[in-house]
Amino acid sequence: MTNAPTASTATAPSPMPQRPNGEAPAAPRPAHERTHAFATRAVHVGAEPEFSKSGGVATALDLSTTYKQTRVGVHSGFEYSRSSNPTRLALERSLASLEGGDVRLSDNLKNEGIDEFNGAWEGGPAGVAFSSGSAATATVIQAIVGHGGHMVSVGDVYGGTSRYQTKVAGPLQDAGCTYVDMSYSTKADGGKVRTEEEQDQVILDRVEQAIRPETKLIWAESPTNPMLSLVPIKLIAQLAKKHGVYLVIDNTFASPYLQQPLSLGADVVVASSTKYLGGHSDVVGGLVVTPIPVLLTRIRFFQNAHGAVPSPFDSMLLLRSIKTLPVRLREHSRNGLAVARWLEEVGIPNGLVRDVRYPGLKRKQESPAQRRERHLAWDQLSADAKKWLAREGYERASEGGFPDGGMVSFHINSPAPASQTESKTAETFLESLEVFTLAESLGGVESLCELPLKMTHGGVDPARRTELGIDGELIRLSCGIEDIDDLLHDLQQAFQKAL
Ligand SMILES: *Cc1c(COP(=O)(O)O)cnc(C)c1O
Repeated sequence: MTNAPTASTATAPSPMPQRPNGEAPAAPRPAHERTHAFATRAVHVGAEPEFSKSGGVATALDLSTTYKQTRVGVHSGFEYSRSSNPTRLALERSLASLEGGDVRLSDNLKNEGIDEFNGAWEGGPAGVAFSSGSAATATVIQAIVGHGGHMVSVGDVYGGTSRYQTKVAGPLQDAGCTYVDMSYSTKADGGKVRTEEEQDQVILDRVEQAIRPETKLIWAESPTNPMLSLVPIKLIAQLAKKHGVYLVIDNTFASPYLQQPLSLGADVVVASSTKYLGGHSDVVGGLVVTPIPVLLTRIRFFQNAHGAVPSPFDSMLLLRSIKTLPVRLREHSRNGLAVARWLEEVGIPNGLVRDVRYPGLKRKQESPAQRRERHLAWDQLSADAKKWLAREGYERASEGGFPDGGMVSFHINSPAPASQTESKTAETFLESLEVFTLAESLGGVESLCELPLKMTHGGVDPARRTELGIDGELIRLSCGIEDIDDLLHDLQQAFQKAL
């Protein structure tokens, strides 16, 4: 990190915005990670009336592109809206708090002898909001891997991420990328029954073998897309520390309500806020959260140089959406588990489907790998999500499983053998659904369904798809927050038409 900009060379807002008249806010932050739970922070951080000129309880939409300076170089903390904007700053404070970046950044700065809140730290909150998840991904890979570096990436990584890794970072940054199967699939080790520790070791060995002297980062997602496999974040974080490389987790599928990778040892969280954070299928956005000061200033510096910033209007929509993130995720998760259980308990015995994939699902007959994944699914849940599940009477060993997000994948049992070209039965099923909308993307309040083979994963190499289990029978559902009876009835009638 030799070229890392210092805090003062990066144009970045201060974490405590000044009022336009230059006064510091009257009261301390009303909601903070050390004192308030996730759902409280989701509602309040970024919407503090103390930061608003009018005292409004909703964050103001500030469309100004430039800000008056009272004397040359003397300003309110805002100069030009690409570099910083009050509505975007409110969103960044919210994202940083929800991913657990605030407290960690504060602690890291104290260790360096810097007091974040007396103005000595100019690097802003621990979160940076981007115009899309892809812009966040590209910026992190540029800022950390640089020229001539190398990364180790989870095999079934988001398609746009592998496109950037191989088709942009490869040729333009001379950056290598090694893909590693970080899942517990028993295929890779011949299906031998192993203890959980041995299963973990298989994954750690695969990752460790891929690390080279020039490796700068390990990139992983958990759950993965579309197979919803889990990656042991804590163990990989320990391995990353041992080798002096950064661990980056794409937290799009879980959302910070269900999983906070920084608390599991990750160094950087990246996500597309287009999905669960936005939640209403009307904003494209992305985020990076890291408590490591040198990375944070570097990422902000790169963002200001590229200009991939979200508009104030998109920032406001996201702030509004985030207030209901916990409420929505609980409902997505209840519906997700109910759909997965229906597929498992009705779909499989009736020959409609096989291989139902849902992180929290407890099957009647579990392979050692499935059992390990379910245990990991519980262990990687955030403290707030575990508290909610305990209140609802769930635990790690609950019969039938526990709610854990809205994403469900399965293979439909078509009469033709599974292949990379034949998908007639799956297509009839998808086109017969009436409540589930046939569309790419996920995480919105409306239920969506898709055929990864020809839609989200159409660009993936067929050999890689076969290896991952993406064929003409694989269907991915994003369960929304509609009434569960309507969702189950919809699936039932579509199976009748397709099979
Ligand atoms: C959608 C998505 C992205 C890319 O985000 P955009 O906002 O579409 O650019 C990255 N990672 C995952 C896991 C995603 O689902």
